[in-house]
Amino acid sequence: MANSPADPAAMYAANIDRAKPLLAKLRTDGIGHFIDGKVVPAIKGETFETHSPIDNQALATVARGSAADIDAAAKAAEKAFKPWRDVAPAARKKLLHKVANAIEAHADDIAVLECIDTGQAHRFMAKAAIRAAENFRFFADRATEARDGLNLPSEEHWNISTRVPIGPVGVITPWNTPFMLSTWKIAPALAAGCTVVHKPAEWSPITADLLVRLAHEAGLPPGVFNTVHGFGEDAGKALTQHRAIKAIAFVGESSTGSAIMAQGAPTLKRVHFELGGKNPVIVFDDADLERALDAVVFMIYSLNGERCTSSSRLLVQDSIADKFNEKLAARVKALKIGHPLDPATEIGPLIHERHLAKVCSYFDIARQDGATIAVGGGAHAGPGGGHYVQPTLVTGASSSMRVAQEEVFGPFLTVIPFKDEVEAIAIANSVEYGLTGYVWTKDMSRALRVADDLEAGMIWLNSENVRHLPTPFGGMKASGIGRDGGDYSFEFYMETKHVSLARGTHKIQRLGV
Ligand code: NAD
Repeated sequence: MANSPADPAAMYAANIDRAKPLLAKLRTDGIGHFIDGKVVPAIKGETFETHSPIDNQALATVARGSAADIDAAAKAAEKAFKPWRDVAPAARKKLLHKVANAIEAHADDIAVLECIDTGQAHRFMAKAAIRAAENFRFFADRATEARDGLNLPSEEHWNISTRVPIGPVGVITPWNTPFMLSTWKIAPALAAGCTVVHKPAEWSPITADLLVRLAHEAGLPPGVFNTVHGFGEDAGKALTQHRAIKAIAFVGESSTGSAIMAQGAPTLKRVHFELGGKNPVIVFDDADLERALDAVVFMIYSLNGERCTSSSRLLVQDSIADKFNEKLAARVKALKIGHPLDPATEIGPLIHERHLAKVCSYFDIARQDGATIAVGGGAHAGPGGGHYVQPTLVTGASSSMRVAQEEVFGPFLTVIPFKDEVEAIAIANSVEYGLTGYVWTKDMSRALRVADDLEAGMIWLNSENVRHLPTPFGGMKASGIGRDGGDYSFEFYMETKHVSLARGTHKIQRLGV
């Protein structure tokens, strides 16, 4: 079968063939903003080029948004808000399922475009669109309960709570797995009855454009979902400052989150932040070491390590450290770096030359700190000559080193040995971040004790990160504010209202009688 993963060469060729007409169309058409149901150029006429990390080729000319474009999009979202809010929830549910259908119908195109625009390997991107469609279906099904509330009767009143959508919202997303990630934000906002202005990352605009166009082809009314491309310092900033935008859902770096909080302060923006991480995976000596090894390798070297939930610090008990590190090093050496469209590839090029330079700078930092680069430690000459880097393993690190404290956001793992449970927890919590934690032990009491003590929003015990949509997703400390998933998303995109009705003729104080 030509497309079977059992025939990687044929699948690689099929992916290349699939990409050709899509790229030709992108080069001719370029990418505009999508405002009020229409593709439009930037008001100032400015553009920028998006390049592929595989070979640095220009992929498309993209509209570069300014405050004027954001204003047009925010006004369109404001105009569309009341009609969208008042769409019957069952009709909204049906429409959002149609968006999911449209995404599924284009899943293979989305996968190859995402690989070419971001450098992510096809083996991980093949299912990205399917997961994005699942996000739409999950929240579509909950649209009918979004307004549900409680009855909290008191002696003299019926007290009812209900929820109403907050209004037009801004969604600002990063470049890592951008298609799937943006749907975590946009699907619940639309299901809640909010209208959206999306500002995707400037390094990955292609599938963001596809998403908004598919949503409208599926029947979303004009103005309900708008996309403005451009840079953080102008389009992004203007979105966070716009008076019509009631809330900002942001995914990106912690320092950008701080800036957005300040930018949104004059208009009292509600904010939801999903930020950086320096997540620990703790392997105790009684763990199932083979499974732990699989999870350790997967959680830092999949998705090029450009993953907020990656376990970028391995805390390994010193009694097993040498044996575990040896097996780990063999696996890291064997990772397949290659073209993202080749299904055999495990690591593709990093998103951008600036990001490659940042990741490579940590090789010197590791050496200066006195750690050992056990595997990797350099750029890699990959197919196309793009921004490839060797998957890297740093051993002999201590918790205070920069490679143990700072988010590298690449295929870069720092190993820190520990003596016992108390020390493991102390090291794990010694960073400013608190997104995820992973614990490997057969002692369930210990697993739960450690989970309780870890300063992290999400913890997996004897497991890699497996997302379940009803569960709360988000971080503590510098890793974020707020939670996504299930009803948590509606809590952010909606205002809770209290309505109180007198049961009878209770006594009202009479003044000025
Ligand atoms: P980034 O903060 O540089 O950019 C993210 C987005 O913010 C982009 O669209 C950018 O244009 C915009 N932006 C930048 N400055 C802005 C400003 N002043 N005002 C408004 N918008 C602005 O992040 P990145 O480099 O694109 O993404 C990588 C980061 O994202 C990593 O730190 C990673 O950990 C984090 N991330 C976190 C999660 C999570 O769930 N916690 C998920 C994915 C990525």
